[in-house]
Amino acid sequence: MTDVRYTRAIVWLRRDLRLDDNVALAAAGALSRELVLTFVVDPKLLASERIGAPIVQTFFEALEALRERLRERGSDLAVLQGDPVHELVSFATHIGADAVFYNEDYEPAAIARDREAERSLREAGVEVHACLDHVCLGAKDVRTGEGAPYRVFTAYERRWRDRYALAPVLPVDTSGAIARAMDRNAIGATRPIPTPEDFGFTSSRRYPHCNEKLARGMLDAFLADDGNVVRYRELRDFPAWDITSHLSVQLRAGTIGIRTAFEGAFRVARDPSRRASAQKWISELIWREFFQMLLRSFPHVATGAFLENGDRLRWDNGEDAFAAWCEGRTGYPIVDAAMIQLNETGWIHNRLRMIVSSFLTKDLLVDWRWGERYFETRLADADLAQNNGGWQWAASTGADAAPYFRIFNPVLQSEKFDPGGAFIRSMIPELSDVPARDIHAPWKSGIRYHAPIVDHGEARARALAVYAPVLGKPRSSHNR
Ligand SMILES: Cc1cc2nc3c(=O)[nH]c(=O)nc-3n(C[C@H](O)[C@H](O)[C@H](O)COP(=O)(O)OP(=O)(O)OC[C@H]3O[C@@H](n4cnc5c(N)ncnc54)[C@H](O)[C@@H]3O)c2cc1C
Repeated sequence: MTDVRYTRAIVWLRRDLRLDDNVALAAAGALSRELVLTFVVDPKLLASERIGAPIVQTFFEALEALRERLRERGSDLAVLQGDPVHELVSFATHIGADAVFYNEDYEPAAIARDREAERSLREAGVEVHACLDHVCLGAKDVRTGEGAPYRVFTAYERRWRDRYALAPVLPVDTSGAIARAMDRNAIGATRPIPTPEDFGFTSSRRYPHCNEKLARGMLDAFLADDGNVVRYRELRDFPAWDITSHLSVQLRAGTIGIRTAFEGAFRVARDPSRRASAQKWISELIWREFFQMLLRSFPHVATGAFLENGDRLRWDNGEDAFAAWCEGRTGYPIVDAAMIQLNETGWIHNRLRMIVSSFLTKDLLVDWRWGERYFETRLADADLAQNNGGWQWAASTGADAAPYFRIFNPVLQSEKFDPGGAFIRSMIPELSDVPARDIHAPWKSGIRYHAPIVDHGEARARALAVYAPVLGKPRSSHNR
């Protein structure tokens, strides 16, 4: 070790629940004689209306696995509970830590908390280091020639790829840091990891599993020679095929490092037979970076529309219509099947997220924030940046969003992306015997099912009448 500055460092884990490819952990290991990995369970955060059982369950599972890995090495995960700032300061004092390392989080509430933590820790004589980890390139790393944040994805992606090609951001080596993890006995008594039930949530065996070993296995399997990355470009939009990586949950909890994901994908993209498909997947990861950058650069999106006019839209906000959407009984089987998948499994396919968000904001004219909040409490991968980006895209209020006159026709979407009806049947047993030709619009053939809560043609005309005065005249008419 050449540059030991600290005797004892705390690595404050938050959305980075892993040992490998963890920037704060590597930095702490390089600068400190010994370190302790620490997680603070924040009861106030867990009591928020904006958090739900699936994400709580996945985080607690990831923490258990992390603790297990540390215990195998004779160390432990320090688990604290209470106000994070207060807990960190008193733990640092208790164990005699002289530094805290953490990975940044771009959510406005997290930024405010981290500033307060930094101030209090410094006052207590503890140095603080914030690292960039949850994205490959930070919000300020990819800027226009004038130094402004991008608002259009294609331009952002081009610049992102140029930057990465010039200086690839590779996974960081944490082996030296892990070897410096404090002895279990020296850490002292730390709490057990709570269960979701301890905080009033109900666990489910159907929610995704989440831990570092699983995440690595999922990435490797996806990128393997015969992995789904080969079929990604062709089949990613078909929920019944279900060939996407499902890594969103792992990326949310940080059980896989984003640098590891990009490095693996770029390696596959060097193989000519898999290049095009791997590049498509890389673009999706760059969408993630784009939405993270938007949240950091334009924090007003967390509460309001990205577009100036977006908050002038006059929503209907029908409570009954919203309840029917939430519960999967709109009468449109593809919408209902999607919402059932969300409610039961804590995850939902991207094409379906697009269909149900368009349906809520255009066909039902319900404020996108209602949908955003509902997703937050139901998704294991609920992430403010991506979720907000997705919802504002669908509602046409976001940066580089769908034009407002692009209103998905739920029946055509269903016919196109679930042509045989296999996905619908897998989620709605009462439609299991309905043939493909009738399953997308059962009311047309007199099949007993919920009656559609709106007529799409009428709903579309109503949406155009609400949107056009606020967001401008349509350039062309789409009814996809
Ligand atoms: C209304 C709406 C809400 C959404 N909410 C979330 C959310 O809360 N959390 C979340 O992680 N994603 C969200 N997405 C994006 C996307 O639907 C999911 O990331 C994706 O379905 C996750 O499945 P996967 O990991 O198999 O994706 P893959 O297709 O395997 O993609 C790999 C990774 O790329 C990123 N990615 C893929 N598609 C997108 C996208 N459209 N925008 C941004 N990043 C993307 C994700 O990190 C994903 O894990 C939302 C999309 C919409 C339209």
